[in-house]
Amino acid sequence: MMTSTFWTTIERTPGYATDTREWRSSLVDCWDVAQLYLSKISKFADHIECPWPGGENCPRRVVRHEDGSFRAVCSDPMRLCDPLDITRDEIHIRELDRRKLFADVAAALDLAMTAPPERQASLLHIGDHQLAAGRSFPVFAALSSPRAPLGKADLLELDRRKLPFILLVTSLRAIEQDVSSFLSARGGRVLTYAECLNFAAAPGKGFVPVASLANLFAAEISALTNADDSPEAPVMTLPVNARWSDLRFAFREQAVLNVSHRGQKPVRLEPDQIGMRDDRNGKPNRQWRLLLACAALDGALPRSFPVSTINGRRPASHILRILDEFKRGYDKQRQTLAVTLREKFGIEDDPFLVRDDCFEAQFLVDAQGLRQGQSDQRQRNFVDED
Ligand SMILES: [Zn+2]
Repeated sequence: MMTSTFWTTIERTPGYATDTREWRSSLVDCWDVAQLYLSKISKFADHIECPWPGGENCPRRVVRHEDGSFRAVCSDPMRLCDPLDITRDEIHIRELDRRKLFADVAAALDLAMTAPPERQASLLHIGDHQLAAGRSFPVFAALSSPRAPLGKADLLELDRRKLPFILLVTSLRAIEQDVSSFLSARGGRVLTYAECLNFAAAPGKGFVPVASLANLFAAEISALTNADDSPEAPVMTLPVNARWSDLRFAFREQAVLNVSHRGQKPVRLEPDQIGMRDDRNGKPNRQWRLLLACAALDGALPRSFPVSTINGRRPASHILRILDEFKRGYDKQRQTLAVTLREKFGIEDDPFLVRDDCFEAQFLVDAQGLRQGQSDQRQRNFVDED
């Protein structure tokens, strides 16, 4: 469920506190979930809004009757607005529970929380998003309003640690116009809460991100990944938008891999060029051999061991024998291969995707050279024995 109404209601409520009746009338579509962030405090409204625009003596005063019932009566001498029977619950003041709100925002965005938010801060660091590689970037949350939008001066003190960062805002009206470009020049990005978060389907479960966090934070993740201290050039020059499906992997022989991008002249790669040489004996390592197995299987890899079928067929016995080498710790080996390929070719996506009973390589595989090599070998053997 979308959250935009929730945030715009919050930003236009002075002090983030008002009576239940007013909260509810604005949040009618998402009351079940929104009310969990609006805690009752021990205060009651003594006035209730009149229908807009009302008169100069509006709004309606809350009158408590002898019998304990409540009625809201317009203070206008002409009784401009209709009186209203109201309940105690309706005039109960609810205040935004920032601690719970930001804890749930942080949880949905997978942020390692720092300290609990200060009660009145309009800008706070709600946590760091950790990347797999042990890097992280900070996420800041703003609570401001179009009446008092955040300006550049408010943001000078952000402890961004020279990292890319995100500033979450209730809406773009709640920041001054030049804030986005000001932050952008410092590696920061402004996002609205509603752009990032939906309410979870079940009340009480907080928020869920609108897209995968890898997508949502793609800019920050790539900025951090590229900011490597010892940048390693990819093994071949590819356009920034290159995808695995643009690449063709062709083994020319057991230790030579030709990779071409969109039919262009292939680049010849040997195991050590893509970090797949075993330093102890100088031979191709297990990742290279797993890549070879993948080629022999026409671009597939087993889902798990023991292998029953791959692409619906039982692999030939000589391939099963090759695969046997990988059955111990297979998941880790396959992931290591994927990580190595992503690093070496500089393509973020996973080169292998699950399809039915196997992992399917997203790059094209040409195993022609391998088969050629095998038959050459057989012929040679035959000749030798003759
Ligand atoms: Zn009135």
